[in-house]
Amino acid sequence: MVDNFFLDNHDLQFHLDQIDLREVVEVKEKGFSYARQYPTAPRHYEDARDNYRLLLEVLGDVSANVIAPRAADADREGARFKDGKVTYAQATQEAVAALKQAELMGVMLPWEYGGMNLPETIYQMMVEIVSRAEAGLMTIFGLQEIASTINEYGSEEQKASVLPRFARGEVAGAMVLTEPEAGSNLGAVQTKAVYDEEAGVWRISGVKRFITNGVAEIMVVLARSEEGTTDARGLSLFLVERD
Ligand SMILES: Cc1cc2nc3c(=O)[nH]c(=O)nc-3n(C[C@H](O)[C@H](O)[C@H](O)COP(=O)(O)OP(=O)(O)OC[C@H]3O[C@@H](n4cnc5c(N)ncnc54)[C@H](O)[C@@H]3O)c2cc1C
Repeated sequence: MVDNFFLDNHDLQFHLDQIDLREVVEVKEKGFSYARQYPTAPRHYEDARDNYRLLLEVLGDVSANVIAPRAADADREGARFKDGKVTYAQATQEAVAALKQAELMGVMLPWEYGGMNLPETIYQMMVEIVSRAEAGLMTIFGLQEIASTINEYGSEEQKASVLPRFARGEVAGAMVLTEPEAGSNLGAVQTKAVYDEEAGVWRISGVKRFITNGVAEIMVVLARSEEGTTDARGLSLFLVERD
């Protein structure tokens, strides 16, 4: 059999066959009305299930034949820090390029931003497939959840500016929460966010650590925006773009 990390995974296939996503898909697809506007949007539930299966098969193929064979090289080379810049290993760059080329990035985002409006369950199946091929790459693929967070809580302006870039695979995400004195207890975060009236922007200062994919272009940063507070009630999440 041709190597395919979805087709050789009976657990995932069983799960996909058994799970009933009818209501979820109906809601996400707004009663399948997107199909009138987007040619690849599903016209009914069975159509959606066929799309998900096809997508998982494509990812299974890319994972088994492009990503997994490069995983050892990615580990050996690792990310490099030079002249103030972090670069992924060559093998990681090639794997990301393959995911991009197969149009597998940002697929959980809504149609209007260039995604495929996938239910979270299907996206998590994808994360599992990528994890098996290369655990390190999974963090880049999995941290696209940042885009979902922005889609959920961002302003229309933020969404329009950031989400299509995730869908095109041009940017990666990071969640910037942990600090030396605030890990399990995130309410103790000390990084400060102060509004600069003159410039009309928030200025953020502080120390963060243990940030997975901290090299990402798009970050959500937890900072204390209300002066004088000492617990979680004074915190906000900021959308920050890397310079
Ligand atoms: C692989 C990896 C990736 C990570 N990626 C990210 C990331 O992308 N972004 C980010 O912001 N952070 C990230 N982190 C940081 C992670 O969120 C923190 O390590 C975690 O929240 C724990 O915080 P800490 O390390 O400061 O440990 P502490 O909170 O200081 O905990 C130390 C120990 O004390 C225990 N402990 C703490 N509080 C209590 C309590 N009240 N009762 C009993 N026991 C307690 C803990 O279980 C632990 O064993 C990552 C960490 C790892 C290991």
